[in-house]
Amino acid sequence: MSRVAVIGTGYVGTVTATCFAWLGHDVFGIDVDANRVYQLAAGQVPLFEPGLAELLTEATTTGRLTFSVDMSDIAGAQVVFLCVGTPPGVGGAPDLSQVESAAHGIASNMTDGTVVVNKSTVPVGSGNWVRTVIEEALPRTGGPKFSVVSNPEFLREGCAIEDFLYPDRIVLGGENGSPKKVAELYAPVLAQSFPGGRPERQPQLIVTDLPSAEMVKYAANAFLATKISFANEIASICELVGADARQVLPAIGSDERIGSRFLQQGLGWGGSCFGKDLAALIATAVDYGYSAPLLRATTDVNQAQRASVIRKLQAALKVLKGRRIAILGLAFKPGTDDLRDAPALEIIRRLRSAGVIVSAYDPVVKQLSDADALGVRMAADAYDAADRADAVVLVTEWDDFADLDLDSLKRSMTGDLVLDGRGAIDPAAAEEAGLRVTGFGW
Ligand code: NAD
Repeated sequence: MSRVAVIGTGYVGTVTATCFAWLGHDVFGIDVDANRVYQLAAGQVPLFEPGLAELLTEATTTGRLTFSVDMSDIAGAQVVFLCVGTPPGVGGAPDLSQVESAAHGIASNMTDGTVVVNKSTVPVGSGNWVRTVIEEALPRTGGPKFSVVSNPEFLREGCAIEDFLYPDRIVLGGENGSPKKVAELYAPVLAQSFPGGRPERQPQLIVTDLPSAEMVKYAANAFLATKISFANEIASICELVGADARQVLPAIGSDERIGSRFLQQGLGWGGSCFGKDLAALIATAVDYGYSAPLLRATTDVNQAQRASVIRKLQAALKVLKGRRIAILGLAFKPGTDDLRDAPALEIIRRLRSAGVIVSAYDPVVKQLSDADALGVRMAADAYDAADRADAVVLVTEWDDFADLDLDSLKRSMTGDLVLDGRGAIDPAAAEEAGLRVTGFGW
């Protein structure tokens, strides 16, 4: 088994470190955030991810998984994964300062033959740049030899462990056989030979050159976001012409060339990746003189979905100022506590500036940062959020909301309007409870 270092222990880094250790490798997780390291070393997961805490406990008790703030712990690691953040920067291009500082840290501590693997989502060409940053920090001659590989990460928050252990494909980009060294780490995943593996469904190993692997990540996210925006554009046209997107979209998706996943109408996408990655891909295209009109439209349609919540509420309630409106769901999707680019936050901001009194409930997110809170009342449950509300807006399709007691919800409210942004509520049952449901695309 190999000695592996993982730099950055956020969502991606913690899952990567934990899973590789669980698969039998010796893993060192390193982060600049001492608090986070302290928590992880104590077996606590500082983020909400189903199954991760159990796996982390299993892996740490074997002694194969340790966490520290000390970059010198990477010494002797055959493979070093870069899993630091690449938040949005100026003009759409991501801010690569975390990658740069981690690359410096690697340069002063790595040993001969290290493979540096970029798992952070970075623009095409960043692999070359990381190589140069490391080279510049090394003596001109006699320094350790190393190579850089791109290994884009496709995990989804909320089912990150499942995605790591049972991926559709593992993409590795690099030269001179270095992807092969990384593929060896993934051998149990590729063969599905670990306990609970599914040998009948082995993932594909796709080896490319460095820039192509970097492009795969952006192109995959751009496609998924575009598919959702396409569904929403069709849904908007359905509303205008009197068609019902709930009937139209499944009929389109039943064509196996199209597929029904990511083809649902609603409030649109959010989260830490789609918006940031689209902006980065557009920025890269612009650098090379191409304006990427389709990708821009994908973003515009998504923004319009969020704005249309206010329009729909105005159409139903007329005056919004002074109304009470409850938001059900804050996380950008079920199964996570991640609020990065969460549609709920933008909707809350818009409602607050229209003079609405906002309450909110999320099964996992229990508080908002000061900036995001904007005077929102955080409720104990969905019924408390709906207390005297004129309308309820369902923003995140948590399972709990599909089982809402609609009679109790109606009794809590002053009004009767439910704007279902995710198609999670059965309109017939809601009608029986005296509620008026409105959605997207019908
Ligand atoms: P995150 O912000 O949750 O975590 C980044 C971590 O890196 C933080 O804990 C931070 O303290 C640490 N860090 C920053 N600089 C460091 C340094 N110099 N040395 C050591 N640690 C350092 O980020 P994330 O959500 O895990 O995403 C990481 C990367 O993976 C990003 O590029 C993101 O786009 C990509 N990605 C994320 C997801 C996702 O669902 N979150 C999915 C696929 C790809």
